[in-house]
Amino acid sequence: MRRYPKVVLTADRTLMSPYRGISLASFFGCAPALDFNRDHNSFLYHVLRNQVTPRVLFDFICNPIEHTNGYASYAPYGLRKVEAALIRDGYRREDVVVAHPDHVEKFIGPETEAIGTYEMDPLGMGPVTMTFTYGRKHMSYDEFYNRDLHLRINAAKARTGSKAKVIAGASGTWQYNYDPAKIEEYGLYGIVEGELGGIGPEIDGAAGPFFDALIAGEFDMANPFKKSQFKVEIKEFVRNDKTLHGRFIHCWNEPSIDEIPNIVNPSMHGMVEVMRGCGRGCKFCDVTLRPLRYYPVEKVQKEIEVNMKYGGLKNAWIHSDDIFVYGLNPRTTKNMQPNREAIEELFKGIMATGIEHTNPTHGTLAGAIADERLIPNVSKIIKSGPDNHIGIQCGFETGSIRLIGKYADRKLSPYRPDEWHWVVKNSIKILNENYWVPAFTLIMGLNNDETPEDSWETIRLIHEIETEQPDSKFTTTPLTFVPIGLLEKSDFYDIGNTMDPAKLGVMYKTWQHNFKYGIQKFMSKVGRATTQ
Ligand code: SF4
Repeated sequence: MRRYPKVVLTADRTLMSPYRGISLASFFGCAPALDFNRDHNSFLYHVLRNQVTPRVLFDFICNPIEHTNGYASYAPYGLRKVEAALIRDGYRREDVVVAHPDHVEKFIGPETEAIGTYEMDPLGMGPVTMTFTYGRKHMSYDEFYNRDLHLRINAAKARTGSKAKVIAGASGTWQYNYDPAKIEEYGLYGIVEGELGGIGPEIDGAAGPFFDALIAGEFDMANPFKKSQFKVEIKEFVRNDKTLHGRFIHCWNEPSIDEIPNIVNPSMHGMVEVMRGCGRGCKFCDVTLRPLRYYPVEKVQKEIEVNMKYGGLKNAWIHSDDIFVYGLNPRTTKNMQPNREAIEELFKGIMATGIEHTNPTHGTLAGAIADERLIPNVSKIIKSGPDNHIGIQCGFETGSIRLIGKYADRKLSPYRPDEWHWVVKNSIKILNENYWVPAFTLIMGLNNDETPEDSWETIRLIHEIETEQPDSKFTTTPLTFVPIGLLEKSDFYDIGNTMDPAKLGVMYKTWQHNFKYGIQKFMSKVGRATTQ
């Protein structure tokens, strides 16, 4: 009998924390951890050394998830999907462990063949992190703990003589293309990428064949003549006169709904998926490159029941790229008119499981108001109210009519770009009236095409909302532009060197808004309601 599992799956601490149930605190992983350039004679250095956000504070908020003998009680949804897919594809339950990051060493031994790490922002290059760390001038906690995890995995392998192949997957693996030295430093055997550039692959459709091939050594060499749904690419990078290599494994799979397994163990924050893809086509987004698929209500219910039964969860956090697209066909539906009946049936089915709270992760503002009965009807179904606010993340992106029309015109459908300001104002009003609170994200330096006039238009729009609707409730988070989706060939927006007064103004305005109108007024209420 094996003493160690064949496959160990894990993620770093920042992705495996309930964050003490504080809404939006999961973004705290993007906070700066270390400043390696701090003047050793400075007061700050004497007090904090290299620390920016004190680690004791971070570790308190980012409390570790529960576990039983090292088995994580809750895990990121994507990791649970890979676990479920391996079991579906014939791996025995004891062969696959989803390990708590603090206890991963326990499961690594001579018989371990593969270690899969789930990585969303491994090198701190995500848009939120790049904003908080001034374009990676500081090391973020995301990067700090991901590094820590890899160093501990390597130490455990060395100690036990394990030859396990470490493979990094999930939506953040594109970052290794920009800092390939980390591939060697972390001892990564391979990096999983999707079929379109760096887009996160949907490995849960073919996890069994993937891990079989990995363990059998089929990815050791690139073989362009072998027909396979996986293609190995050995990339060469030249950095500072040094040549570096990385093995990137591309996965072509786009599983149909029937090929997507249901989770078998509880997910973090009660997350369950209801759709993949989004037909709106924003050029700065990679989600839209995926084919659009919807889960039927019964499939959603089965996953919620797993979370309730094995995780004791009473909420369902509905992963949706644009919940208001659920159930429509973007090719045939005129003007992306929401399928209200389908959305209502979905939420009725979710509530019928007996959970107490649900909220979708994402939705568009235009979709929210395109059918005037949609938000009021869904609100009744999910029982929103003064003690049950519904948090939803919405892309505000920019106040610039020029930029929104150029890069995201279908995000506004059925409205026109010149109606964007009206859409933003009206949707806030309708969402707030029904006890929904949008958390807006804005993109700074969109495709490096944002002029000072565009930035001032953004500032003006936020100011107008505050003055015209002084009781409105929303948060605004500025993110720096990251080249993904159809803009993947563009450059990162360099916040450290290309900040102009107008963009600084956007940053100031958004944080002033959050402090004055957001955090003080309502965040604690939403916080209690939206997490496990
Ligand atoms: S609406 Fe959102 S998910 Fe859909 S393409 Fe645009 S940014 Fe991406």
